[in-house]
Amino acid sequence: MMSDDLARLLDFDRTHLWHPYASMTQPPPVNLVTSAEGTRIRLQDGTELIDAVSSWWCMPFGHNPPEIIRAIQEQSASFSQVMFAGFTHRPAIQLGEALLEVCPPELSRIFYADTGSIAVECAMKMAVQYQYARGREKRCRLAALRGAYHGDTTGAMAVSEPEGMHRIFHGIMAGHFFAPQPQCEFGQAWQDDDFEPMENLLEKHQDEIAAVIVEPIFQGGNAMRFYHPEYLRRLSLECSKYEILLISDEIATGFGRTGRFFAGEYAGIVPDIMCLSKALTGGTIPLAAVLARESVASCISAASPGEFMHGPTYMANPLACAAGCAALHLFKTFDWADRVQSIEKQLRLELASCCTLENVKALRVLGAIAVLELRELPSYQRMQEIVMSTGVWIRPFDHWLYTMPPFITAPAEISRICNALRLAAQ
Ligand SMILES: *Cc1c(COP(=O)(O)O)cnc(C)c1O
Repeated sequence: MMSDDLARLLDFDRTHLWHPYASMTQPPPVNLVTSAEGTRIRLQDGTELIDAVSSWWCMPFGHNPPEIIRAIQEQSASFSQVMFAGFTHRPAIQLGEALLEVCPPELSRIFYADTGSIAVECAMKMAVQYQYARGREKRCRLAALRGAYHGDTTGAMAVSEPEGMHRIFHGIMAGHFFAPQPQCEFGQAWQDDDFEPMENLLEKHQDEIAAVIVEPIFQGGNAMRFYHPEYLRRLSLECSKYEILLISDEIATGFGRTGRFFAGEYAGIVPDIMCLSKALTGGTIPLAAVLARESVASCISAASPGEFMHGPTYMANPLACAAGCAALHLFKTFDWADRVQSIEKQLRLELASCCTLENVKALRVLGAIAVLELRELPSYQRMQEIVMSTGVWIRPFDHWLYTMPPFITAPAEISRICNALRLAAQ
């Protein structure tokens, strides 16, 4: 690419294209990507960066895994989209079969959606419609945790940390209930009083709450913290006691990221509704799935209006479902559990020295996730310098510096990621 051509492209981008969480008039710098493969993102000038955030946590097998790309290509040769009302197709069915193989057997009814946020919207609607179908119309609010992140759409924002990035939109958000963030961290001794506020909330508002929604074990986007599995276990028990549904948002944690295939396994719980997305297609193409218990699905279907009131245009898109099938096949053949375990070990070992840095408040590691909580935010400019000098793509948000590398990342690459994090934390 000629350099004036590059300048023109970047100029157009700067003037016309909005980037995530960015200013349109003072846009932060962006790098032009020309290809990506495995752990590497290649820029137009030939620079190669190790993708230490799995492009927002969705790529366990790295970029462009050939098996998944081939599946998309093969499906596109026959058809790439058809409405899912009145039609079905092999990719949707085969992905359903593959999901049932890996999900808790109780979760046997599948609703496909397009993205994580939309899956959360569907799950919330399912819970409300379930209570409605049971004649409990007043149970139309959700309970959630402070520090939660469930997505950027209006419904999903309304169950995310209310003082966080979404606070300016409070005027259009429904008033849900929030319990304090769990204080007992994963690996610490359990304290009984940690669950009390949630227990009280559920008892007091049982007649208004359709469901509790949580990110199991790992609160991501708004907290970057791991909490105690006992919290989740108690939550599951209390929910059943009041016939409040439990929605588990496994969008970030699902597919091995925390060391278990689903994070809910740490607590031995089975939710009533589970949301999956991100790694579902190995990070190649957007897709989400909402899995529900048979009892939830049949209750909704038995009462008027008898239908679940949702149906996106691209529901069960065949290309995305084909990608999902290939990704689930990879999980079967790839020793992800071993890989995640050795990544965890290496992250713990090589990041331990960061704890002595003045700017580091805490280090947290679980599975293929490491978080350094900082006292002072690094500037965009300093981060860009570190990225370019180390060849490692890291992207902190708020005061969290973290890595969630692809599971295929080699030990030498993990060492480079740890070095880059240490440098950025200084
Ligand atoms: C990323 C994420 C979402 C939102 O998914 P999108 O595909 O970005 O809409 C929801 N919940 C959790 C836990 C997530 O990490």
